[in-house]
Amino acid sequence: MYWRLLSLVLCQLGAACIGWWAAPKGDEWLLILAMTLVGSYLWFVLDSLRGVRLLRWLRGGATNDLAIGNGLWGEAYNRIRRMLRDSSRLTVESESRLKDFLAALQASPSGVVLLDSQARIEWFNQTAADHFGFDARRDLLQHFGNLVRDPGFAAYMSARNFLQGVTMPGRENSSSKPVTLSVNLHFYGDGRMLLLSRDITVVEQAEAMRRDFVANVSHEIRTPLTVLAGFVETLQTLPLNDQERQRYLGLMSQQATRMQTLVSDLLTLSRLEGSPLPSAHEWVSGDVLMQQCEQDARDLSHLLWAQSHDLRFEHAPGCEIAGSALELHSAMSNLIGNAIRYTPAQRRIDVGLKSLPEGGVVFYVKDQGPGIAQEHIPRLTERFYRVDRSRSRETGGTGLGLAIVKHVAQRHGAELSIDSFPGKGSTFSLTFPPQRVRSALEVSNIH
Ligand code: ADP
Repeated sequence: MYWRLLSLVLCQLGAACIGWWAAPKGDEWLLILAMTLVGSYLWFVLDSLRGVRLLRWLRGGATNDLAIGNGLWGEAYNRIRRMLRDSSRLTVESESRLKDFLAALQASPSGVVLLDSQARIEWFNQTAADHFGFDARRDLLQHFGNLVRDPGFAAYMSARNFLQGVTMPGRENSSSKPVTLSVNLHFYGDGRMLLLSRDITVVEQAEAMRRDFVANVSHEIRTPLTVLAGFVETLQTLPLNDQERQRYLGLMSQQATRMQTLVSDLLTLSRLEGSPLPSAHEWVSGDVLMQQCEQDARDLSHLLWAQSHDLRFEHAPGCEIAGSALELHSAMSNLIGNAIRYTPAQRRIDVGLKSLPEGGVVFYVKDQGPGIAQEHIPRLTERFYRVDRSRSRETGGTGLGLAIVKHVAQRHGAELSIDSFPGKGSTFSLTFPPQRVRSALEVSNIH
């Protein structure tokens, strides 16, 4: 401010001096006054020009530097520059923070859609685009309800009660490959909405499997229990002779054994699912496994059939498999048990443990039984899946044998393959990879 006054006074003084110097003697005062006025006017014009430059600089976006000097305009210029610098720094900072937020939302495993108060789409992440089939260029600012036309979702949205979510089919839902989404809306800001979507297909399938499993187990247990209860009532109410009583008791014992087998298979399955993977450094002798299997097979064949099967066993001696002896024996005897149960008496059953040229071994059971139609093969390892329900029950099957075999195979890095054709018999094999197999002969050479 002082500079401003000083420059005005200096301008006036300068002009007054020129007036005094140039004026004829006697008339000085008139010219001095006139020149002082001219000086003021000049100062005003120069001062205004600086103001105009500053204004022009501002209008031009204030991008370049401006040499405007000191004084009022200089200070105004400096302050404006500082304010502009601060505000552009703040803008850059908040833009980068917004980018970070959007990147975090983009990385979310849930679908995120931001809707305005009219339910028009303002932003969505890639997961939401996949869930609903949105395209960023086409669908921004579209009404969400126009793009997602599920009736359940429409009712949920119009009710505007978002305490709970709603489930709806995903974009790629089809009868062969169902996709289920869980969608939740939340209000925020001034009537805006945040939509979160989650793919719950796997959870739904697991829940459906759990429900089926419980229903199957209940059914499997209820059948022998009903039969048992019937016999108990008969024994209690009817006067039976010794022979009849023995017959009923025999039938009751059969049902009790059936329940025991079922419970034992269920426990085996739950142990396989819940226990840590078998060690890759404990070696199980193939010779011992095959001896046990052969003994079990002959006993079972005798027990189930009046005339036993033509059982043939062969194996590469000295082979060892890394894993759990109990689990391996359970898987192998399940496969042999099935062959014996489903193959008519006297027919041939081949069981073997064979080294493969590329390393590893294959355990196989080949029977001359009824064979299995192709459409059943992919489903055989499902729990309680049976091709011939009554045949399975008659021979004491639980429908869990192949599920157990599949689990054991997975836990040992092995592969279960089924080769079968109706009327031609079946071959079930377990292929163990080279890293799970060694030869006892090699080991004894090392030591
Ligand atoms: P189950 O206790 O009923 O035998 P599994 O899980 O062991 O249950 O087998 C599932 C179904 O696969 C059986 O019910 C049977 O229909 C079929 N199956 C298994 N092994 C054989 C086989 N060797 N020959 C013919 N069918 C078989």
